[in-house]
Amino acid sequence: MPLIDYLANNVHSFIFLTSLLGLIVGSFLNVVIHRLPIMIERDWLRQSREMLDPDGEQPPDTTFNLILPHSHCPHCSTEIKAWQNLPVISFALLRGRCGHCRERISFRYPAVELLTAALSAVVAWQFGFGWEAGAMLVLTWALISLSLIDADTQLLPDVIVLPLLWLGLIVNSFGLFTDLNTALWGAVAGYLSLWLVFWAFKLITGKEGMGYGDFKLLAMLGAWGGWQVLPLTILLSSLVGAILGIIILKTRGQSNATPLPFGPYLAIAGWIALIWGDTITGKYLQIAGF
Ligand SMILES: [Zn+2]
Repeated sequence: MPLIDYLANNVHSFIFLTSLLGLIVGSFLNVVIHRLPIMIERDWLRQSREMLDPDGEQPPDTTFNLILPHSHCPHCSTEIKAWQNLPVISFALLRGRCGHCRERISFRYPAVELLTAALSAVVAWQFGFGWEAGAMLVLTWALISLSLIDADTQLLPDVIVLPLLWLGLIVNSFGLFTDLNTALWGAVAGYLSLWLVFWAFKLITGKEGMGYGDFKLLAMLGAWGGWQVLPLTILLSSLVGAILGIIILKTRGQSNATPLPFGPYLAIAGWIALIWGDTITGKYLQIAGF
């Protein structure tokens, strides 16, 4: 395959093509981030109705999934045409407004696309062409979706977390990032460590500081990086939490400061620990004089 040979030997082209792919994937992640929580909530409502009133009539099921209905302007409901759906470019061409009613489109859509492109480029740069980069791209895209869904709705959907946990174990059965044994115990220790913190915190303060989704997310990160990645992930997540907390306080003001859920911090910290964990730990040990 000439293309594979080319990409394997030409890292700049690989980084460039990966960031283009990131733009397109980012556009799809926008859909996932927006629609998946709505789909989950609709499902819960339907199940609750069935449980509470088994013989009752269900309201008609309108189609709503990741593909249908086609994207439309939330303001005037005009369907978005294919050329208006190009990542970032359409937003720039339309100057951030709906092509029909000229209502402003949220800057978040191109921001997610650019973020996905940038993080994909980092993965391509750090891992080079190969299975590691491919697997890490899938994980990166999942973590972007999870962070924003959690920030929006305080949900970390099992439908993303659990398959990614399995995928971590599967790729490591081929020894991609660590060996299978280390990955398995990473998943177990990831879940149990936050589970223990949760119950200790609850017994002492009577409050719930995080949710079961956070345990599963750390289990997933452990499955990818092995148990060695966990201490750094937890350490970095408090650091990321402190930094983001200060930024949010400064930009939104004290009065509107709602605490962010823990998931995005874990996701960012885990991503950094998976890619640069060895470097960070090495530098730290060097500075500490070991
Ligand atoms: Zn419109």
